[in-house]
Amino acid sequence: MTVRPMNIDPDKCLIGGAWIAPTGGQTLPLTNPSDGSRLCQIARGQGADIDAAVAAAEAALNGPWGQATAAERGRILAKIGRAVQDHADELARLEAMDVGKPLKQARADVMALARYMEFYGGAADKVHGATIPYLDGYTVYTLREPHGVTGHIIPWNYPMQIIGRSVGAALAMGNACVLKPAEEACLTALAFARIAQQAGLPDGALNVVPGLGAEAGAALASHTGVHHISFTGSVGVGKLIQQQAGANVVPVTLELGGKSPQVVFDDADIDAALPFLVNAGIQNAGQTCSASSRILVQRGVYDQVVAAMADRYGALRAGPALEDHDLGPLVSARQKEIVSAFLAQGAGLHCVAQGQVTAEAPQTGAYVQPTLFADVPPDHVLAQDEIFGPVQVLIPFDDEAEAIRIANSTPFGLVASCWSANGARQMRMARALRAGQVFLNNYGAGGGVELPFGGSGLSGHGREKGFEALYGFSTVKTVAAFHG
Ligand code: NAP
Ligand code: MG
Repeated sequence: MTVRPMNIDPDKCLIGGAWIAPTGGQTLPLTNPSDGSRLCQIARGQGADIDAAVAAAEAALNGPWGQATAAERGRILAKIGRAVQDHADELARLEAMDVGKPLKQARADVMALARYMEFYGGAADKVHGATIPYLDGYTVYTLREPHGVTGHIIPWNYPMQIIGRSVGAALAMGNACVLKPAEEACLTALAFARIAQQAGLPDGALNVVPGLGAEAGAALASHTGVHHISFTGSVGVGKLIQQQAGANVVPVTLELGGKSPQVVFDDADIDAALPFLVNAGIQNAGQTCSASSRILVQRGVYDQVVAAMADRYGALRAGPALEDHDLGPLVSARQKEIVSAFLAQGAGLHCVAQGQVTAEAPQTGAYVQPTLFADVPPDHVLAQDEIFGPVQVLIPFDDEAEAIRIANSTPFGLVASCWSANGARQMRMARALRAGQVFLNNYGAGGGVELPFGGSGLSGHGREKGFEALYGFSTVKTVAAFHG
């Protein structure tokens, strides 16, 4: 099947408002992971295409986009948000076919993208500087200014949400963007840019160059015409990006991986916790940076939680994305190999339950069985490494001190949660857990447009989402006037 969906040319780049064939004339195949079939060819952008996109962004800054007031930018973003909603079904189906995400989850991503546009549209004219008391005879104030051209390199797991949070905030502050989506997931990025253009975003304010990370991605990260890089992806590539941008002294935001724990104490409301414990591990087939892959449970309720989670796992079904099961396939055959290799390393562990792949799911799809392990030593590779698949480990603990020690024992620090009825303990845990977000008696894997998000340690640095992102996508100029 070949798609030419939603008025986009998938084998072209969108630069300066026009569909442009990649300069090298090359394309890459795109696969539907639900059945392994070929979807279409996409553009294999190269350095020259990134040059053109950066030039188009610079031109936009010198044109109508650069002259737009904050209120006008806000109005355009809000309009884009409504246009995204109008195209919700098409966008959700496109994403489901491209990355294997069950339709309901793909639709949630569309709604999050629309909400990001609404949120950042509303925020665009509410960011302002300060006046600062200084020496006698001076008036000093600060101006919040855009960086200029911002580069956005994003992964395949939540393309629409990540575009919403990074491109949305960057545009709100008046930057012009060059977006390099993942090679496995560029269709909704192209469709979104087209929708934004039709909703009134001036040409060149958002340019999309699909292609390989080592080619188009590296060219963007090391471009001297780019003034800020937002990268979401793996730790290994994040380190490379930081080096590449660092050579030009360009600031970077790194949103990397995680091994996020949920900590369940004896006094927790187990029935309330259960759906969160499981969903946070299997949402998007576990391919979520903020997936909760470690469940730490106090010994008094350990057997109860293991049994209840095993029950839920037994009922889980994985199948084609458009059939909307609990899980779709993984994004690719390659991702299936990676996750299968981790599962093989769990051979000596206590596997308490596995969900099933539906009998009708094509053998050619990238399916794995969701798998739950119990009694996993905290230093085991499955309790330390990010798997990026539907695999969770259960770890027992005795007391609060041990829970904190185990929870903080990985090099990551993205998200964590504490389930307990004890208010004082909730406050202690919120401070002690190393994470950019801590949830008390709930867990939001990837959720919360309004909530600042980001990590520490190998999970990265900088914050996106919420109002906080607007500071990251802008810079402060101090003006000191002497008037005597
Ligand atoms: P990835 O391999 O790091 O790829 C991310 C992006 O970087 C893709 O667009 C990729 O392009 C590009 N890239 C690859 N090599 C590059 C290079 N040498 N120079 C410049 N760009 C390059 O990550 P992934 O496998 O797609 O995504 C999974 C990872 O992302 C996980 O570790 C996950 O935890 C993390 N993640 C984090 C968050 C968060 O917010 N913290 C959110 C989602 C995902 P190609 O793929 O086209 O080669
Ligand atoms: Mg695909």
